[in-house]
Amino acid sequence: MRLLVVEDETKVARFIERGLREEGFHVETAADGETGLTKARSGQFDLIILDVMLPERDGFSVLRELRAAHVCTRVLMLTARDGVGDRVQGLDLGADDYLVKPFAFAELLARVRALLRRSSTEDAVLLHAADLQMDVRARRVTRGGRLVTLSAKEFGVLAHLLSRAGNVVTRTELAETVWEELPNTPSNVIEVTVYHLREKIDRGFSPALIQTVRGAGYLLQKP
Ligand code: CA
Repeated sequence: MRLLVVEDETKVARFIERGLREEGFHVETAADGETGLTKARSGQFDLIILDVMLPERDGFSVLRELRAAHVCTRVLMLTARDGVGDRVQGLDLGADDYLVKPFAFAELLARVRALLRRSSTEDAVLLHAADLQMDVRARRVTRGGRLVTLSAKEFGVLAHLLSRAGNVVTRTELAETVWEELPNTPSNVIEVTVYHLREKIDRGFSPALIQTVRGAGYLLQKP
């Protein structure tokens, strides 16, 4: 198991590194956010232990960049601050767990083991219809085994249609769930997004998955 520890306080980093090595883990370290991000982006780790307060780039920013780059390695965040806001922010950004400093090594080890036990298939939320597959956690979509690159809104629309497969989804419902920051999104914006989504996932494939229900909305039928 390969672990990356991103922590600028040398004493804390050494303490974690030494302890984890004694437990048989392969450990790499990074002392600032930028280096941590570069190493983490390689995707070669099974778990990243990420401090929040870091020079160059803080832990939240590292995590945001990783998830935006579709790196779904598990992340355990460390922070000296135990504010609920920080915890929520970390979890919202895709952290898998949180540990408040100072902590006992035994607790860190227990969290690390628990996170590693969760196999990637176990908590990847998989949605599918015909030969289309969506890994919600990794934000990865394939059709017929081929990777499809979607914008954030296209991804959101598809995820919603898949989760409501077999039901008509209205434009209002899409506006409220996918364009939550703009609940009055004009329907032509939604139509354009659905058009692009179809071009990517349905064009050249059979069956076409997204149907327009006139006067009502859209329907994704599971064949
Ligand atoms: Ca720090």
